[in-house]
Amino acid sequence: MRYMPGSEIIGKEEREAVNRVFDNGGILYRYACDESKGEVSQVRVFEKLLSDKIGVDYCHAVSSGTAALKTALIGMGIQPGDEVITQSHTFVATVEAIIEVGAIPIITEINETLNMDPDDLISRITNKTRAIIPVHMAGVPAQMDEICKIARSYDLLILEDAAQAFGAQYKGKQIGSIGDVGIFSFDYGKMLTTGEGGLIATNNKAIYHRAREYSDHGHEMNPLYPRGKDTRTRGGFNYRMMEIQAAIGIAQLNKLDMAIERQQENKKILIKGISSIPNIQLRRVPDGSGEIADTLIFSLADSMKAKRFAESLNENGIYTKNLPDAIKWHFSGTWDHMLPQFAIYNGEDLSTLWPISKDILERSIAIPIKIKMTENEIHYIVDCINGIAKLI
Ligand SMILES: *Cc1c(COP(=O)(O)O)cnc(C)c1O
Repeated sequence: MRYMPGSEIIGKEEREAVNRVFDNGGILYRYACDESKGEVSQVRVFEKLLSDKIGVDYCHAVSSGTAALKTALIGMGIQPGDEVITQSHTFVATVEAIIEVGAIPIITEINETLNMDPDDLISRITNKTRAIIPVHMAGVPAQMDEICKIARSYDLLILEDAAQAFGAQYKGKQIGSIGDVGIFSFDYGKMLTTGEGGLIATNNKAIYHRAREYSDHGHEMNPLYPRGKDTRTRGGFNYRMMEIQAAIGIAQLNKLDMAIERQQENKKILIKGISSIPNIQLRRVPDGSGEIADTLIFSLADSMKAKRFAESLNENGIYTKNLPDAIKWHFSGTWDHMLPQFAIYNGEDLSTLWPISKDILERSIAIPIKIKMTENEIHYIVDCINGIAKLI
């Protein structure tokens, strides 16, 4: 099975990068590289390139995006019992990480951007709230101006979940560099893939150090001592990235701008071809957003129409991406496997708690946009959408 988008362009460059790791001695563990012998850790190189790309002082690579979320929350000092606010439309991992650190997930509605509704965010803040996790879903930035303003006035930290938006920009800044911390995922379905992998990006030295320690059993990387005698103050866990993942990531990073540009061009043609259809509504993209354009989302008047629309697309060989096919992994209103452990959700009918989000998500259809799409393929999709819209 081939997912989009970074996996679409895996090729000889990634293979050669892996071979080079073996040619140079087959060191697979980042902390085994001995700089005095001229060995440079691929993970360290990857982190440096990512800091430059994202425009932050510190990047720390870990084993997955989910690990990055948890490690970032620990780095931010989130404690058991704290409330952390995120949004109803996200991948389960965001809420899993909040639960993992013992915090209470508080969940906002989305608006027609399909990301966090800033007005609803204000209404969810209490004296226990410590942090906000806006999620840039399906390549489109959240309304960061509004969210940052709220965070400032209530003295809350922001963790951007940019797992689905590596390379996106908001008002000239890279996504993930706007809040106190940003995290990214490099899993097989993401814009840049290392198979599995994740990243924490921040300008905050204290958060960076705590996150780095936590992801490596508490190791402080004290330059005065060898690793076996390293200092530690707080406990940790193992969420380390390995050398091969970083080598692949470096090769992928070289292709990123090209890949995003192609997607943006493809999406432009797609949008042009469907923008005059009266009965579908395109997702609203906030002002100043440079989206990565890996997904096209539009909504129908009601959920029955959306269901029929998606079925017709499938019958024509066009597949959807998460909406509606995997809505249960991307909407909190279905998460009765993990939310009822909290008193605020226990006994509640989750499907009624975020009615606006439920309505929007059930009416929405997401279509993946590929990097390598021929004009013919794009026009085929345009024709199908136009044809189906006339019948719905
Ligand atoms: C993919 C994803 C994650 C988790 O990343 P993994 O690398 O798969 O652990 C977190 N948040 C969102 C929004 C995601 O899409």
